[in-house]
Amino acid sequence: MTEKATNLQLLVRGLRLRCPRCGEGRIFRRWWTYTEYRECQRCDLVYDRRGESLAFMYLSTAFLTGVMFLVLITLPPRGSLWTYRVGLVAGALTLYAVTMPFRKGLAIALNYFNSR
Ligand SMILES: [Zn+2]
Repeated sequence: MTEKATNLQLLVRGLRLRCPRCGEGRIFRRWWTYTEYRECQRCDLVYDRRGESLAFMYLSTAFLTGVMFLVLITLPPRGSLWTYRVGLVAGALTLYAVTMPFRKGLAIALNYFNSR
């Protein structure tokens, strides 16, 4: 059937929100509502068998929080402190939301990489 993918291929597939094994099936039914498929529609790979990707989601969220913290200490507020805080929180939430499908795809790819 499908030949074994290289590590790079796995990561690319994850970032394209595709199944890491066959590269064809989608991970998300509707990524904008974060509705995931439980398994690949093409090769029946179960994506997140025991919720392993959760650990990666925690870590990457912590990482992004670290990035926001760096922004906080390297970019001092100009003008109103209130606007700055609101902007920072809005920026962080946007960053989490926008990167979430890709982090999830990557988590599933890494998970597959570790378990194959
Ligand atoms: Zn598949």
